[in-house]
Amino acid sequence: MKRQEHQLRITEIFHSLQGESTTVGLPTVFVRLTGCPLRCQYCDTAYAFSGGNLFAIDSILQTVAAFECRHVCVTGGEPLAQPGCFDLLTRLCDAGFLVSIETSGARDIAPIDSRVMVVMDIKTPGSLEVDKNLFSNLAYLKPSDQIKCVLCSRADYDWACALIQEYGLLEKTQVLFSPSWNELNPTELANWIIEDKLSVRFQLQLHKILWNDERGR
Ligand code: SF4
Repeated sequence: MKRQEHQLRITEIFHSLQGESTTVGLPTVFVRLTGCPLRCQYCDTAYAFSGGNLFAIDSILQTVAAFECRHVCVTGGEPLAQPGCFDLLTRLCDAGFLVSIETSGARDIAPIDSRVMVVMDIKTPGSLEVDKNLFSNLAYLKPSDQIKCVLCSRADYDWACALIQEYGLLEKTQVLFSPSWNELNPTELANWIIEDKLSVRFQLQLHKILWNDERGR
């Protein structure tokens, strides 16, 4: 019988354009792992909280390879909620893919293969999950990694600016600011960043603009 860590519960594997981060716009295969211990109030992937199907890592690799695409993003849910995710990331790197992971910031990222680009959320008070942030993760971020703050309000923006200052985040890694969809006006956020001369990257979720958040796109 195969060991449990060699199987992962998967919600979907699909080919699309990367909607966020510094690789935005690049064709990418998404491997969406099932399950998340958080409940952010703006979550747009609640369908990944449960269900899914068990796949061996070999089978995931075959499915990914069939799309003939260099970039692979492991996402969720919270992909690191499944211990086998670390093996999956390493196997994808070994197979020659350019691999990224989207994680909530609530799980230890230290064991992630150093070849993987980590896009880690910091949850703001407006997410209603701010107490889940694992700030010890900040020590493991590389210059090529990214911190993502989804902002719900001016209060969230001010909170995130103070955090950047407190932890010197702009010296450690790249920081992305996104408006929570339908909650914070994107133009307002863009204006605040310019007014404050803040060296963060403003981003909109490309897949929502192109496909209105259709599942599997
Ligand atoms: S961490 Fe991500 S998947 Fe989990 S509840 Fe928050 S937004 Fe949804």
